[in-house]
Amino acid sequence: MYSSIHFESAGRKTTSASSPEVIQALRDIVGEENVIVDPEKVEPYGADAVKEKFPPEAVVFPATTAEMAAIIKIANEHLFPITARGGGVGYTGGAVPIDGGIVIGTDRMKKIIELNVDDLYITCQPGLTTYEVQQAAAELGLMFAPDPASYKESYIGGNIAENAGGMRTPKYGVTKHHVLGLEVVTGTGEVIRTGGKTVKNVVGFDLTGLMNGSEGMLGIITEATLKLLPMPEATSTVRANFHSMEAACKVLTKFTPHGILPMAMEVIDKFCVAAVEENFAFGLSPEAEAIILVAVDGSHEEVERQAKLVEQIITENGGFDVLRARSAEEENKLWDVRRAISPSLMKYGTLKINEDVVVPRSRVPELVARIEEIGKKHNTFVANFGHAGDGNIHVNFVIDREDPEQIARARQCVAETFRLSVELGGTISGEHGIGYVKAAYMDYAVDPATLEIMKNIKRVFDPNGILNPGKMFV
Ligand SMILES: Cc1cc2nc3c(=O)[nH]c(=O)nc-3n(C[C@H](O)[C@H](O)[C@H](O)COP(=O)(O)OP(=O)(O)OC[C@H]3O[C@@H](n4cnc5c(N)ncnc54)[C@H](O)[C@@H]3O)c2cc1C
Repeated sequence: MYSSIHFESAGRKTTSASSPEVIQALRDIVGEENVIVDPEKVEPYGADAVKEKFPPEAVVFPATTAEMAAIIKIANEHLFPITARGGGVGYTGGAVPIDGGIVIGTDRMKKIIELNVDDLYITCQPGLTTYEVQQAAAELGLMFAPDPASYKESYIGGNIAENAGGMRTPKYGVTKHHVLGLEVVTGTGEVIRTGGKTVKNVVGFDLTGLMNGSEGMLGIITEATLKLLPMPEATSTVRANFHSMEAACKVLTKFTPHGILPMAMEVIDKFCVAAVEENFAFGLSPEAEAIILVAVDGSHEEVERQAKLVEQIITENGGFDVLRARSAEEENKLWDVRRAISPSLMKYGTLKINEDVVVPRSRVPELVARIEEIGKKHNTFVANFGHAGDGNIHVNFVIDREDPEQIARARQCVAETFRLSVELGGTISGEHGIGYVKAAYMDYAVDPATLEIMKNIKRVFDPNGILNPGKMFV
């Protein structure tokens, strides 16, 4: 189970969200059955993957943009906080109402409005899961490229609000690279449209870009137009062992000089290998100090050529037990190891603090080596794995949740890891965002003048500060 280091919220208080007058107004908008006030039933909406609980006073489920706008107008009249929620599997507490108020669930907003094969886009409401969008596109031979590991649970609205990444980032980028246009209800209840349906669009400021990663603090996304791509004909995955994490990380920059941009490049350290082997007995070699997974995609011929070259480059750079999947089933099995890591790491303790720092990918070997030193210095267990091909490493400090000393040492490790990532030219989060769990560290990565501009942008979109208070800024 994941848990965060908790920081106090900004101290805003709400009183009126659960008043009979407000609840009746909300019921008038969405219907009685779409407003939950029962304390037992609202409780699950008070937590995300961070697992700390801040139950809302009520949960409301609009189905249309007009209903969303009406709810936000009510919140402005009564000045209570509102927190948008997608699948609720964020890793930074973004969907959690730490200052109370109401949660707005997007579960009923699941319509596909248009799927255009000629112009390569899908327009949909925010409550579809990533997987549902991928499936709708796949039925017409198209691909929605962003693929967070949470794709079966996370919603498109949550993906955009977090600018989610995933395995395919080295080649296809993150969510923002696939969002063409948005409909957003701002903090005052205005409905705005950003971008459009075209890849090219340079009319005015890039508000679509601004909304990506805005963590529900500027507006609530009610419709998204997403870029689609032709589905690649084939994919192939190569797995290899290495005698050191450094050697495994170093190989990740060796493919591009040969004209290969792998779709996915993941690295797994020896602690993760041992944990998944103990849990799932995949038959991984005890000699593996690190494992890499490299996937390529394209036409059958191109994939065959690239996969062979990947095997050769890995072998020339110290990889051993190099294994290439020969079928979709085998490929899936190779990726099962990667998918098994997160739960398996609980073998090392009862509290896993999972950070997602990112650096330019050539600095990954140094990042990983120095994080190991930080762990040793503070006598704290650390295991590393993740999307090393785009420089994004999941750093896991695993400790005993009942031991305050271990928690204090882990806090120190987190702070030093964040400083290190910035020192190496990277930043404190590659894909999980800030929420409330990393708000105290924003100034490690963002200078005061830039932070002030961010706060001013927030004031423009949400002058009454009702959208997701207590997040991102302390
Ligand atoms: C097992 C697991 C694996 C994961 N793997 C990845 C991964 O590979 N890559 C990755 O990037 N992340 C990953 N995550 C983190 C998480 O899944 C992503 O951040 C995801 O995008 C969150 O989507 P969600 O719908 O659950 O959002 P939520 O957690 O519900 O919300 C996240 C934020 O978005 C806001 N929000 C939600 N809907 C809207 C909306 N319609 N308009 C405006 N704001 C909104 C919320 O207020 C909140 O601030 C993983 C999480 C888990 C538990």
